[in-house]
Amino acid sequence: MAKQFETIALIGIGLIGSSIAREIKDKGLAGSVTVSTRSEATLKRAQELNLGDRYTTSAAEAVKDADLVIVSVPVGASGAVAAEIAANLKPGAIVTDVGSTKGSVIAQMAPHMPQGVHFIPGHPIAGTEYSGPDAGFIGLFKGRWCILTPLPDTDEAAKARLRAFWETLGSMVDDMDPEHHDKVLAIVSHLPHIIAYNIVGTADDLEAVTESEVIKYSASGFRDFTRLAASDPTMWRDVCLHNKDAILEMLSRFSEDLAYLQRAIRWGDGDKLFDLFTRTRAIRRSIVQAGQDTDMADFGRHAMDQK
Ligand code: NAP
Repeated sequence: MAKQFETIALIGIGLIGSSIAREIKDKGLAGSVTVSTRSEATLKRAQELNLGDRYTTSAAEAVKDADLVIVSVPVGASGAVAAEIAANLKPGAIVTDVGSTKGSVIAQMAPHMPQGVHFIPGHPIAGTEYSGPDAGFIGLFKGRWCILTPLPDTDEAAKARLRAFWETLGSMVDDMDPEHHDKVLAIVSHLPHIIAYNIVGTADDLEAVTESEVIKYSASGFRDFTRLAASDPTMWRDVCLHNKDAILEMLSRFSEDLAYLQRAIRWGDGDKLFDLFTRTRAIRRSIVQAGQDTDMADFGRHAMDQK
């Protein structure tokens, strides 16, 4: 495939950064890739995995001659990274990020961006419960949405280049207002993770059920929550702290709806339960039809077991 950027700097080389690195190398999208991460240990691992061409623990050093800078660190660290790299950004460079919240990242990073640098925040809706440079893989972004939340004065040509980059990685790209992004993600991603953390925590606290029983009988539904609840604690702490308003709004809606469900169960209102469960089943079918999940029973686990 054709080279899209002369030099790309990757700041943060965990699950997302290292998946991007693998794609760039696989598809020959850059003349050179500079990898930067804050710890020596992660940098060494990135080097062993051959994820880039140059390696440094200094983000400021990494961006010096980069045409594209991709910041892939927990959202709470984006302001500090922006402050560190600002003075060394090349005029005309595109700076983007992959953070799961957008309003807060923009508030933290935009004030540091120099004139002539194109800051275009982004969020690939793709991930797993694993983290670190070993967790990344080619294909993570394939068939997944990547949302860009450009600022009002964004250069169209720079945006088109970034969009083309994500499309080369297999993503479908949408533009969205940052505030709207944060609301949408609060319901489709942030709330499900919070519910999962909560239910797994509750099960862990239950005295009447032993821990070994929770694990032994987990296939009955609990197991699907444990995957989400195994997600990176730093990342999810930052998501909760940096999308507070939208998450609290969705949590109140959720609590109201849960009370309705609780009431239907208490009063034996089978019709209400049946109607809700029918509506939600249709949503699952729409997700499968949109190509956003497999239609195999139990997410294809049985088929995989038989291989
Ligand atoms: P990850 O695997 O845990 O990797 C995090 C990277 O950020 C590492 O290079 C780490 O460096 C660095 N880092 C951690 N804390 C830092 C700090 N305080 N200052 C500077 N660098 C720091 O994380 P990830 O899953 O790739 O997530 C990265 C970003 O992508 C997050 O903003 C997240 O919201 C977003 N995102 C994640 C997913 C997902 O499913 N995981 C999906 C979409 C978007 P060291 O290892 O050297 O400490």
